[in-house]
Amino acid sequence: MSDGLQDLLCNLPSVDRLLALLGPGLAGAPRALLIRGAREAVEAARRRTLETRDPRHTEETAVLEEAKRRVREALRPNLRRVVNGTGVVVHTNLGRSPLAPSVLAFIEETASGYSNLEFDLKKGGRGIRYSVVEPLVKELTGAEAALVVNNNAGAVFLCLKALAEGREVVVSRGELVEIGGAFRVPDVMAQSGALLREIGTTNRTHPRDYEAAIGENTAMLLKVHTSNFAVVGFTSSVSMAEVAGIAKRRGILAMEDLGSGNLVDFSAYGFAPEPTVQDAVASGADVVCFSGDKMLGGPQAGIIVGKNEVLDRVKHHPLNRALRIDKLTLAALEATLRLYRDPRAALEAVPVLAMLTAPETRIRRRAQKLAARLHSLGIPGLEVRVVRVTSRVGGGALPRQDLPSAACSLTLSGKSAARLEEALRGGDPPVIGRIENGGLLLDARTLTEKDIPLALRAVRAACQHLAASGTGPLAV
Ligand SMILES: *Cc1c(COP(=O)(O)O)cnc(C)c1O
Repeated sequence: MSDGLQDLLCNLPSVDRLLALLGPGLAGAPRALLIRGAREAVEAARRRTLETRDPRHTEETAVLEEAKRRVREALRPNLRRVVNGTGVVVHTNLGRSPLAPSVLAFIEETASGYSNLEFDLKKGGRGIRYSVVEPLVKELTGAEAALVVNNNAGAVFLCLKALAEGREVVVSRGELVEIGGAFRVPDVMAQSGALLREIGTTNRTHPRDYEAAIGENTAMLLKVHTSNFAVVGFTSSVSMAEVAGIAKRRGILAMEDLGSGNLVDFSAYGFAPEPTVQDAVASGADVVCFSGDKMLGGPQAGIIVGKNEVLDRVKHHPLNRALRIDKLTLAALEATLRLYRDPRAALEAVPVLAMLTAPETRIRRRAQKLAARLHSLGIPGLEVRVVRVTSRVGGGALPRQDLPSAACSLTLSGKSAARLEEALRGGDPPVIGRIENGGLLLDARTLTEKDIPLALRAVRAACQHLAASGTGPLAV
């Protein structure tokens, strides 16, 4: 190493010196994190100095800033609140359903102390965890019995295992769905030990196909909601009521995996008609299962409803214990379901329902409000326009349902939409948008009132960051 370079490296501040400087600004940070941040910052500065021989990398203020940045990053939680500007309401990557304030309050009330999770307050002895929500689910769906587990994938698996292991399950070829995250009906079936008996064709399945497939070893007829795709054109499928009728006559079970189960009929809000959970139960299915955090708008859960003696078999299967629902989830589910007792109020109180049914005029007003506020910040080079867009239900539900919406389209002069998108995604809180026609869209359907000040701050910080970046040699 040349003497010049050696001298340069000697200018680097020591870890001790950085620790003394870091302390005051980051009071309360665990000492181990301060030491790690300081060490890593010195090491990074040494590497850059060796690479570039630029003396500016050794400056104390630069190394200190880098150490602070690293400590702050280590202090920040990994799971973070983000602002969803994608317009996808049930966004699986963004945590699906936001929960209502009353639901959060109920979680706090029941989970900050002990609860009667598995304690029967009348008898004074051991109780059953899911009995907390069973009466409510029965009341809302009209089912004889109910059970809740970890998620709907688990619910399907548990039902197949408990009701059809080693026996045949008849499914239409048009319903052999793959849901995101490697949930494929044939694979789940194989894992459960049930034997898949495919019938019909991709586009057409008839009642006689079900009839012809039933044999000695048939346990059930299963219908799976084609949640995330649509077959159009020359198609026909058999209704749940017909399938349940066939199953009943032949002395076997009928089950429906509804995917995103709805307790409210969205057709009054311009949605294509979809059977509700109540419809599926009324059609005579022995077992119906659906997700808690898709269009229901609650926590992640798998809800199973159906006939008493059938659900008894599911409840007593050992796998039920492995898939059990946790107390925070159960609290959230009970509080969410309570909101459904008044369906009109639920449309306002359950965030997912409110976003799905929000009138376009209201969304447009929110987009205009955000645009006006952004204008008033006077950010150099930022242009904001309110544009018409289409939002999506998401969660693999109703893929063809266009929801007319309004968004702010942001462009920053001299920077691409991709750079703006990246900067906002890296912000605090991260703001997630989507790029369309060269602009970064923030769809107001999925922005709450509380998100607006957060989005304003994030956009200002992102624009400042972009304006500053690429100008100095120290930019990372
Ligand atoms: C989403 C979905 C599932 C999986 O539900 P999770 O709650 O995500 O586990 C299963 N079946 C269908 C038809 C679905 O749409």
